[in-house]
Amino acid sequence: MHVLLPRTLEEALEMKASAPPAVPIAGGTDLMVELNFDRTRPQAIMEISRLPELNVWRRENGTFSLGAGVPYSRIVRDLTEFRPLVEASRTVGSPQIRNRGTVGGNLGTSSPAGDALPVLAAYDAEVVLAKAGGKIRRLPFAQFMTGPKKNALAPDELILGTRWKVVRGPGSFSKIGTRNAMVIALASLCLVLDEDGRSVRVALGSVGPTILRAPDAESFAARAMETAGVWRDPFGPLPTRVIEEFGERVAAAAKPIDDVRGTAAYRRHACAVLAQRALRWALDDRKLTGAR
Ligand SMILES: Cc1cc2nc3c(=O)[nH]c(=O)nc-3n(C[C@H](O)[C@H](O)[C@H](O)COP(=O)(O)OP(=O)(O)OC[C@H]3O[C@@H](n4cnc5c(N)ncnc54)[C@H](O)[C@@H]3O)c2cc1C
Repeated sequence: MHVLLPRTLEEALEMKASAPPAVPIAGGTDLMVELNFDRTRPQAIMEISRLPELNVWRRENGTFSLGAGVPYSRIVRDLTEFRPLVEASRTVGSPQIRNRGTVGGNLGTSSPAGDALPVLAAYDAEVVLAKAGGKIRRLPFAQFMTGPKKNALAPDELILGTRWKVVRGPGSFSKIGTRNAMVIALASLCLVLDEDGRSVRVALGSVGPTILRAPDAESFAARAMETAGVWRDPFGPLPTRVIEEFGERVAAAAKPIDDVRGTAAYRRHACAVLAQRALRWALDDRKLTGAR
C-alpha cells in the first residue's frame, strides 16, 4: 500500500485525481478500524490531517465555515458558541479519539450514528467539496448523505468542510446508548431554536438510514410557541401537553430498525424522551437569557 503525503490542498487534490484515487486518512479513527479488520485494502492512502487548509474555521457575513480537519477536541475547547456541536463533539469516543477524530471523517463515513451529523442537519449546513482545478461543489447536508455509510462524495473529491448560517437561539445535542461514554448512539437528537426565524429544528441520528429531520414536529412546536406567546415572552408557559405531543410527533418521524443495540420500539420511545427534554432545556435557556 502506498502512503501519500501531500503538503498542500492543491497537491492533495491532484493526487485524488490520479487513478486509482487515493483514500484520504484524517484522524484515522474510522479508517484504521476498517484496515485493521481487513475490510478494505486500498492501493494508496493519503494523509490529510496536516493540510493547513482543512484545519481552519472562518466567520463571514453571518455564516460559519468549519474545516474538515478540525478535531473534536479543538471544537470543544474553542467553539463554545456552538453548543450543540460542542455537546456532540464531547460525546465522541474518548479523549484520544477526540484528539484525532474530525467532522470531515464523520461526514466521510456517513454513519447514521455519527454524532456530528444531526447537528449539521439541524444547522441546515452545506457540505463543501473540492476537486483539482479549483472546482468547488456545495451540497445541502440532506443531499450529501444518501444512505447508511453512503454519500455523494465523488472519487476525485475531498471534503473541504461544512458551512452554516449562524442562528440566534438555544440548542442541544443528546444521545442515548447502553452506557454513558465510549458508546455508539442508539438514538440521538439535535434541537435548535431560531429566535429570528421563529422556527424549531430537530434532527435525529441512529433511527433511520440517514439523519432525519422531523418537519411536522418542528412546525407544530413553532406554531404552539406562537399561540402561547412564548416567542415574545420567554416566561410564558408552554402547556405540558404541547411538549408531550411534540415528543410524539418527533418519534413519528423516526424510521428505526431492530438490531443488536436495541429494538425499533425502544429507539422510537427514546426519540420522544430526547425531544421532550431538548425542548424543555431550550425553553429554560430562553428564560435565563431573556431569549436575547
Ligand atoms: C473507539 C472509537 C470510538 C468512537 N466513538 C464515536 C462516537 O462516540 N461518535 C461518533 O460519531 N463516532 C465515533 N467513532 C468513529 C470516529 O471517531 C468518527 O466517525 C470520526 O469523526 C472519524 O473522523 P476521522 O478524522 O478519524 O476519520 P478517518 O478515519 O480519517 O476517515 C473516515 C472516512 O472519511 C474519509 N475522509 C476523512 N476526511 C476526509 C476528507 N476531508 N475528504 C474526503 N474524505 C475524507 C476517509 O477516507 C474515510 O473513508 C469512534 C471510533 C472509535 C475507534
